[in-house]
Amino acid sequence: MVSYKELGLVNTREMFAKAIKGGYAIPAFNFNNMEQLQAIIKASAETKSPVILQVSKGARNYANQTLLRYMAQGAVEYAKELGWEHPQICLHLDHGDSFELCKSCVDFGFSSVMIDASSLPYEENIALTKKVVDYAHQYDVTVEAELGVLAGVEDEVSSAVSHYTKPEEVVDFATRSGCDSLAISIGTSHGAYKFTPEQCTRDPKTGRLVPPPLAFDVLDAVMEQLPGFPIVLHGSSSVPQEYVDMINKYGGKLPDAVGIPEEQLRKAAKSAVCKINIDSDSRLAFTAAVRKVFAEKPAEFDPRKYCGPARDLMTELYKHKIINVLGSDGKAE
Ligand SMILES: [Zn+2]
Repeated sequence: MVSYKELGLVNTREMFAKAIKGGYAIPAFNFNNMEQLQAIIKASAETKSPVILQVSKGARNYANQTLLRYMAQGAVEYAKELGWEHPQICLHLDHGDSFELCKSCVDFGFSSVMIDASSLPYEENIALTKKVVDYAHQYDVTVEAELGVLAGVEDEVSSAVSHYTKPEEVVDFATRSGCDSLAISIGTSHGAYKFTPEQCTRDPKTGRLVPPPLAFDVLDAVMEQLPGFPIVLHGSSSVPQEYVDMINKYGGKLPDAVGIPEEQLRKAAKSAVCKINIDSDSRLAFTAAVRKVFAEKPAEFDPRKYCGPARDLMTELYKHKIINVLGSDGKAE
C-alpha cells in the first residue's frame, strides 16, 4: 500500500471547491509516456495551474503501474525543480470499470479514481459506485462517477449513441453513491470523430464541419438540482483543425475529424463544471509534429529529434487550454 500523500500528490476535493467558487475548471490531461508528462508538468508549472494527470486502464497497461507511480512522483519533483513551489497535482484513474481496478489504483498511490458504471442499470451503477467510494474514502481518495452515456471511442470505452444525463436522477445518485464528483453527458463525446457529418452542418466559407451545440439546458438543470456539486465533462477535446491539417498534409488521413468548439468549453468552465477532460488534442499535436519531421527530414532516426518537437507542440497546446479555455492559470501559486 502506497499513499498518494507520500508521493506529494493531492486529491480533487479542495481543487474542485476552489474551481467552482472561482468560475474556472481544472484540466484533466491523459498521459501514457514521458514526453506527454513532461509537457503537462511544464505547462502547469509555467502557468501555476492545478492539474489532474489522468491514466486510463489502457494507459496503465501500456506504461506499467509501478513505473506510472514513480512517474507521478517524479512529476511532483520536476514541478518543484521548475520553480513551482506548491504543485497541486492529482493522479487520477480515468474510466475505472471494476471495483478491483479502482482498489488497485488506490493501493498504488492514485489520489483520485473514476468508477464508470454508467453502462450498467441505474441501481447497479449506484451500488458499484458506493462500493468504490466506501473503499477509497478510507484513504482520503476522491471518487468520480458517471451518469448518462457519452458517444464515441476512448480506449476500451465506446458507445455508438449518447444518452443525456437525466437531471431528475442526480440528487438521488449523488446522495446514495456518495461520489465526490459526477461526469455527465450533455453532448460531448470521446475521440477525434465526435460527430458524424450528418450530425453537423457545414460552414459555407471554410467547408469545415460545425458540430451541434452542447446541451446547456441539461447542465443548467443538473446544477439546479445539485447546487455547488462538482461536475465533470469527458470527451472535451476541440480537435484543433491546424493539427488535423498538418497530419493530413504530411501523409496522414483524418477526414472530417471534429471536436467541441472552445467557446462552448469556456462557457462550461465558468459553471459548476470543474474538471474538463482533454486527451485527443494532445494525441493530435504529438502526431502532427512527428509527421512533420518525418516528412521534412526523412533521414532522421533519433527519436529525440521527433519526440522533442512533439513535446514542444503539446506544451504549447496545454498552456493554451489552461489560459484560454479553462482559466485555471495562477490558481496554484
Ligand atoms: Zn472519458
